[in-house]
Amino acid sequence: MQTPSGTAAETQTSGRSGSPLARWLTGPRFARLPSRDAALPPPLLSFEFFPPKNQAMEDALWAAIRRLEPLAPRFVSVTYGAGGSTRERTHATVTRIRAETSLTPAAHLTCVAATRAEVDGVARAYWEAGIRHIVALRGDPPAGIDPSGYTPHPGGYAYAADLVAGLRRIGDFDISVAAYPEMHPQAASAAADLDNLKRKIDAGATRAITQYFFDTDTSLRFLDRCHAAGITVPIVPGILPVTNFQQVVKFSAMCGASVPGWMAELFQGLEDDLETRRMVAAAVAAEQCRLLQANGIDEFHFYTLNRADLAYAIAHILGVRPARKAEAAAPPPVAKCASA
Ligand SMILES: Cc1cc2nc3c(=O)[nH]c(=O)nc-3n(C[C@H](O)[C@H](O)[C@H](O)COP(=O)(O)OP(=O)(O)OC[C@H]3O[C@@H](n4cnc5c(N)ncnc54)[C@H](O)[C@@H]3O)c2cc1C
Repeated sequence: MQTPSGTAAETQTSGRSGSPLARWLTGPRFARLPSRDAALPPPLLSFEFFPPKNQAMEDALWAAIRRLEPLAPRFVSVTYGAGGSTRERTHATVTRIRAETSLTPAAHLTCVAATRAEVDGVARAYWEAGIRHIVALRGDPPAGIDPSGYTPHPGGYAYAADLVAGLRRIGDFDISVAAYPEMHPQAASAAADLDNLKRKIDAGATRAITQYFFDTDTSLRFLDRCHAAGITVPIVPGILPVTNFQQVVKFSAMCGASVPGWMAELFQGLEDDLETRRMVAAAVAAEQCRLLQANGIDEFHFYTLNRADLAYAIAHILGVRPARKAEAAAPPPVAKCASA
């Protein structure tokens, strides 16, 4: 039976005007969510960890590494604490990954609070230990030490571009650098920041990894600008699955990443509900990656915070499977018909 739309009773029950069916049928329509062409290989992934501070954290890190290892990431990277505070722990973690796993480790290295000779010494030690991939960064001083934000060490590498050039003199490293879709907070302008990224690549960087972002449009426009500036190396999106929303809001204010209003709405009311926050985090990050995939991007770098579960689930949604299982699941080769 047809009923007139917009009756008081309907508005009361649905909270909106118009019959539900009319609303459903007059809104925008999507036949399906954008999906990856199944004939294409799955995306290439990399995972970022931080060096553990104690045995419990070490155990958690290694459980994460072991869980993610079968996904055969392109590389896994280990961060360098603010002010170079984790120099030994970063080195120990990276060299253990190289010694005990099938993974390719990358060591983060910064310019902060060290002379060129000291930084070169760390890089040489990596080269001698067989580490061939460095994530070269300017770094940030430990909080409170440099109120102006950053002052180069008088005898050190001033900026990441200088460090990249220094590393090139030491060995034929694979060098990743940082990129900022929403601009580095200390950059004079977006154009100056892009010039800086170009300088890092011209100095010898082979890839950029972006600061995390949540606004896919902004990141795609940034890629357009990189391309227009003549950058040809991959600018790999850095993906942060968000479980602690309040912490991300605080951190984003410092690092210049914007947090859209829709995220606040998604996490509203979940302050004491970690389990649901984790499910929401996986869904949001997977959707972000799928949108980027639909726009042609096929490499992702995950900020794992030393946990495997979210990265693993998102990787699965993106079509990445453990190497051995993928082989076993592959359809048997089809015998070709002899042509008549
Ligand atoms: C993927 C990724 C990984 C990271 N890993 C770590 C880590 O392990 N440890 C850590 O401490 N931090 C890390 N960071 C944070 C990073 O160190 C900070 O964002 C830092 O403030 C900038 O580092 P950068 O390498 O981008 O610096 P740079 O590329 O040197 O740029 C820093 C700022 O200086 C400006 N600039 C560059 N050259 C000049 C110049 N000649 N004159 C004036 N201004 C200039 C740039 O425009 C920019 O605003 C990481 C960031 C990302 C995105």
